[in-house]
Amino acid sequence: MTREELIQVLIPERVRQGAAYHVQDATGMIKLDAMENPFVWPSYLRAQYADRLANCGLNRYPDPYASAVRAPLRQWMKIPESLDILFGNGSDEIIALLISSLISSGRSVCAPDPSFVMFKVLADQYSVNFQNLPLDVSFDIDLDGWLACLLETDPALIFIPQPNNPTGNLFSRERLAKIVESTKALVVIDEAYTAFTDADFLDWAVTYPNVLVMRTLSKVGLAGSRFGMLVGHPAWISEFDKMRLPYNINTLSQTAVQFALEHAPILEEQSLRIRKERTKLIRELGSRGFNVWPSEANFVTIKCAVDQARPIFEALKLRQILVKCLDGSHPRLGDTLRITVGSPEEVNTLLIAIDQLVAELGL
Ligand code: PMP
Repeated sequence: MTREELIQVLIPERVRQGAAYHVQDATGMIKLDAMENPFVWPSYLRAQYADRLANCGLNRYPDPYASAVRAPLRQWMKIPESLDILFGNGSDEIIALLISSLISSGRSVCAPDPSFVMFKVLADQYSVNFQNLPLDVSFDIDLDGWLACLLETDPALIFIPQPNNPTGNLFSRERLAKIVESTKALVVIDEAYTAFTDADFLDWAVTYPNVLVMRTLSKVGLAGSRFGMLVGHPAWISEFDKMRLPYNINTLSQTAVQFALEHAPILEEQSLRIRKERTKLIRELGSRGFNVWPSEANFVTIKCAVDQARPIFEALKLRQILVKCLDGSHPRLGDTLRITVGSPEEVNTLLIAIDQLVAELGL
């Protein structure tokens, strides 16, 4: 048999028909496409950090429990003693782990529509049934729609990003409480953007028997360390811990995160700067005639004039500015761009470029 024939026979149709997750090439660009933190650390700290990494024993497997990170992280995030933590190689890995627990169970997973694409991507990858939950005109929970959907689907797992990506808004607390109280599913509140909002649902993981909270360090300056966490009652965490790959958090990441947490005020100060810059970006884009959606995250999503999102995206790219074009990705995201809040310099460069485009394209 040829290699091609073997692939036909051995790789399931579902995989062959799929596509690898595409990441835009950002070489040399101002990167405003992936909700990263734009700031780097002062050089004296980077020198200390390099020293710490140089002393990592890479000949040994990592600490399987990332013990040195637990206490400082718990303290920084004010995670109650009654809750346990499971670490993942990014929260992507935790999403994968949670969904994979449903393989062959016949049970479904649900998430708002639109929201973070990986919920559906991973459900499809594991052949776990996925059900969209409808959002109302303000992209808030459509309570009746959700209740009907949950009754019909009877899911085992519901992901709720709070705030949502890519719409940027928080879901109403009252509606969320109604959903949590009316479902028998496990509700995972995904607080990936917790650093940029005052909303905090950690206490729900204490109060409600069916709530877990997921967080990540990706948005606070540690995207490269791939460090996510699932926080919840020890009874839940110990079940999912059985599915975690041994040594899933590598030694370099553990060391980097431990070091970063020793300097947590820097992380906080950077997130505060991003929040301030977000206010400016919303104001400035609004004053240029864009319909800017309210955001509690480190990005803003804007609706452009009809059929203008892609030309603006392409024209910005020619100017070495990379944003995310959502047009075409979802029926409700037509003509939209998602722009990560960058540093003050990056935001200024973006605004100047947009002013030029307005003049050139006559937007
Ligand atoms: N949840 C949401 C809502 C996200 O937007 C993202 C990343 N964009 C993630 C989870 C994944 O984050 P991580 O980098 O920790 O895998």
